[in-house]
Amino acid sequence: MITVMKFGGTSVGSAEALNRVANIIADTEGEKVVVVSAMSGITNFLVSVVDNPLTDPDAVVDQFRNKHLIEASQLFDGDIMNEFRAEFDTRLEAFRTAIMGDRANPLYRDNVVSQGERFSSLMLSYVLKKMDIKSVALSSEQAGIVAVGNPMAGSADLLKTASGMTMKVKPLLAMGVVPIITGFYGANEDGVPLTFGRGGSDYSAAVVANAIDADMLEIWTDVDGFMSADPRIIPSAIKIDEMNFGEAAELAYFGAKVLHPRTIEPVRLKHIPLKVKNSFKPQEPGTLIHHLRKSKNELLRSVAAKTDLSIITISSAEIAYRPAMVARIIEKIADIDVIIYSISTSLSTVAFLVHNNDVTQTLRQLNGLNGGDIERIDVKNNVALICAVGDNLLDKCGVSGDIFGAVKEADANVEMISEGASDVSLNFVVPMGKVIDVVKVLHDRYIGDQ
Ligand code: ASP
Ligand code: MG
Repeated sequence: MITVMKFGGTSVGSAEALNRVANIIADTEGEKVVVVSAMSGITNFLVSVVDNPLTDPDAVVDQFRNKHLIEASQLFDGDIMNEFRAEFDTRLEAFRTAIMGDRANPLYRDNVVSQGERFSSLMLSYVLKKMDIKSVALSSEQAGIVAVGNPMAGSADLLKTASGMTMKVKPLLAMGVVPIITGFYGANEDGVPLTFGRGGSDYSAAVVANAIDADMLEIWTDVDGFMSADPRIIPSAIKIDEMNFGEAAELAYFGAKVLHPRTIEPVRLKHIPLKVKNSFKPQEPGTLIHHLRKSKNELLRSVAAKTDLSIITISSAEIAYRPAMVARIIEKIADIDVIIYSISTSLSTVAFLVHNNDVTQTLRQLNGLNGGDIERIDVKNNVALICAVGDNLLDKCGVSGDIFGAVKEADANVEMISEGASDVSLNFVVPMGKVIDVVKVLHDRYIGDQ
């Protein structure tokens, strides 16, 4: 039995948290591979280093060193501390080289912001060694995680990663060693770090699970699991015990911040079950996400909302009959890596849902299209996408009617609908001011009284 265990920033964020995590690892049976995020606050610190002029590199290195050593001094002493410090100092020199690198290099940012994981993994492996558990800290390069794609938006090459990890990591497992691998990035074909985007360590862990054919992926975080709604909006929200991959993917993508949305695919491909667990309450069962699930007779399992979005509507005569034009529009937007959350078309309009922050650059891109083709572009800011997730939601007759009836109760105007793209979720757009009311009405009506 191979378990891949991923621990997030708060779970490795202090000496106390690291001890807790080490105990969780020690208590887990079978072969284990661990993937870690940077200690909480570290990646944000590194982003600020990249975003500001580097006037005093020594001060940056000192601050970075101290943030880690304050915790390390509570964990290690004597010989083990000396051994740890030797490895730590080598990494610190590499860190200094990274921040002083060529800022014009497109992968400068990826290299610097991914440095935190190299230190959290080292700390955790030493905590395990202190407990007499054989362990080794591996960078993504050493573990064989291969990344492709654009800076700060990489994806793993699953096949190359599988062959790399089979050579580099599997033999360690056979020797009873627990590898602690850096999350968040892989090495591109030149061996240079390329990150999977912010929050990407969950995805790293799923990639690792896929690559080594794990039996289970455990994502250890600081919440109890997926909830039926955001507990800040719905205090009576309940934890979801079980979900299928499709439901979890939709929820993660459209709102719930429990998992990085890309975590599902690498494990779904190999039918590897995934558990979300709270490292502060290891005895709690968390949420289990897997392929087959006993179907419960509930209509909705969760209601999530993605806020701060805008609808960009492009009007052009008979656009529905000009697919090449729609393709050109999408290509233009794709060129700048803007995420389109939803698209809907009519005879003479095509509407896109994008984040508020992406509107200006999207409009700039669209201006580059042949002016004669487009009659008008309208923008409606500050809308939110409601994502209602349930098992085979759309198979049930009359469900959307029921749900929109409930939305009417909240006195909200539905601005855009994307029904049918997925059979587990019904997604629609309402004005930001109505989000809380809509989520409350849906939760009360379909989930609240269970
Ligand atoms: N440390 C990275 C971040 O904060 C990756 C992760 O934590 O998932 O974005
Ligand atoms: Mg995270």
